[in-house]
Amino acid sequence: MLHCPQCGSTRIYLIAGGFTGYRYHCKACDYEGVLVVTTPTLDEEQEDGRES
Ligand SMILES: [Zn+2]
Repeated sequence: MLHCPQCGSTRIYLIAGGFTGYRYHCKACDYEGVLVVTTPTLDEEQEDGRES
């Protein structure tokens, strides 16, 4: 699961990838960059409760 490093949202979208690495865009805070936080998807599924 991808998390925005800025706001922690999981609404991260991959906008580019390949040559220079991946770039992501956060729909929640409009962050754009290569840095994302990944967490292992164990048995916790909390991405349903979206808080704006
Ligand atoms: Zn964000």
